[in-house]
Amino acid sequence: MTPNQPDPTDVQGRLALVKQEIAIAAEAAGREPNSVELVAVTKTVAGPVIAEAIAAGQRCFGENRIQEAWSKWPALKERHSDIELHLIGPLQSNKTREAVALFDVIETVDRPKIARTIAEEIARSNQHPRLFVQVNTGEEPQKAGVVPGEVESFIALCRDTFGLAIDGLMCIPPFDEEPAMHFALLAKIAERVGVKELSMGMSGDFARAISFGATYVRIGTAIFGERPKGDDG
Ligand SMILES: *Cc1c(COP(=O)(O)O)cnc(C)c1O
Repeated sequence: MTPNQPDPTDVQGRLALVKQEIAIAAEAAGREPNSVELVAVTKTVAGPVIAEAIAAGQRCFGENRIQEAWSKWPALKERHSDIELHLIGPLQSNKTREAVALFDVIETVDRPKIARTIAEEIARSNQHPRLFVQVNTGEEPQKAGVVPGEVESFIALCRDTFGLAIDGLMCIPPFDEEPAMHFALLAKIAERVGVKELSMGMSGDFARAISFGATYVRIGTAIFGERPKGDDG
């Protein structure tokens, strides 16, 4: 290994490699590397390991469970006021207060009841997380998210009934399908409804997502290693 090559055996090295790959994918797509934000996904990752990523300069992170996020992030955010924390997992209405209080971006707005409770919580707390709508691009019955045909009316409902601005869309493509068609679909919907941010792409497919216009890629395994089985939220 040459001295200026990142060391792929530690968090800082893997983070550097992932950032290189993001830059290469962006350039290949004719985009500015800094038009793609890396959301480092820290579900199941312990505080001291997260601290290594923070020490390497990473500031944007994602968690999928509210309780787990509360056990780790208040202390880290206290020390680093510029951290941007994304909720990328399902949100129940009885957890909205905790979500709005901790997260800077909620990527999983997906039904009227959640939109209503978020709006109430924003009014009560005067905290203003950015909001994305999760889209169930594969129309999988067991998966969260608004189906493609209802995104436009759901965003209008968020805006007109609850006064919520939606800044982006996110998707998790079906495990067993070519992700490209889902990335393309999400990008097309975003363009149609006039939403700017696209959260799509994970460890296995982020370069592809960037070629379809991802502005946020959510990457866990490629930075922090494999998670314990069955703990994938
Ligand atoms: C866990 C998770 C990721 C990261 O997945 P990796 O394959 O580990 O990169 C991205 N998005 C969501 C919604 C997740 O739950």
